[in-house]
Amino acid sequence: MRLVNIQGRLAIRTAEGDIDIETASDGAFPADPSQIFDRWSEFHTWASGLDAAAAQPAPHAPRSALGPLVTRPRQIFAIGLNYRAHAAESGHAVPEHPPTFTKFASSLAGPECDITLPTGDIDWEVELVALIGREARNVDEADAWSYIAGLTVGQDISERAAQLSGPVPQFSLAKSHANFAPIGPELVTLDEIDNPDDLELGCSINGETVQDGRTSHLIFPVPELVARLSRVVTLYPGDLIFTGTPAGVGLGRNPQRYLTDGDVLTTYVRGVGEMQHRFVAAS
Ligand code: ZN
Repeated sequence: MRLVNIQGRLAIRTAEGDIDIETASDGAFPADPSQIFDRWSEFHTWASGLDAAAAQPAPHAPRSALGPLVTRPRQIFAIGLNYRAHAAESGHAVPEHPPTFTKFASSLAGPECDITLPTGDIDWEVELVALIGREARNVDEADAWSYIAGLTVGQDISERAAQLSGPVPQFSLAKSHANFAPIGPELVTLDEIDNPDDLELGCSINGETVQDGRTSHLIFPVPELVARLSRVVTLYPGDLIFTGTPAGVGLGRNPQRYLTDGDVLTTYVRGVGEMQHRFVAAS
């Protein structure tokens, strides 16, 4: 199953079109994307039995009309240095524990929009994003995938000047400017994915590939992240985990490269989806 947020209403996306969930369920499930995940198991059972043709799908909404799949998650986790080559280009050793920060929820955005460039050095980070489907506490790694509702594409846009300025780094704030956490276009449930532990992901700027990696190279794969995080905190339905970025960010280049006015960033996870964002100077 694939889900999209069309202007604040969650819909099931089929080959034939988009099915508004509140309408198709006669109000049994709300339109608000933030409320569905609290009832994920019940919802998934209902959606699996839905007669898609009888639900009269509407033509696919354009990507520019899509919002973030969850709008008010209780928690957003983001993992730093989770690919060896990215740790190396960042000048760090391979971590023994996943470095964890947050992207504040007001930075969430949809899969296609303009992103205004704040002052500083604006960098890109393609990431696989996992969305939690049921409450998780002290989860075993072997069971961890069963706590994931689905996967989507994410960008961990980062302002490097503030991120790395002292006396202590400012990861969370520097990565939470408006629209710095775009996700989408679709939430893809795991039954639609051949091997969720080995997905190709990357991004390009104005058509030039800058990142191209595979999630099989994650130092801490998704199940290990769920297990480790859930030993410290409770994970709630709708929470997001940005799992980390492969090599090829602007910070790690010689010379360093950052996004400028007019740049178009295309971000993909093969088999999951593709996003496109244009960067514009502040007016
Ligand atoms: Zn990141």
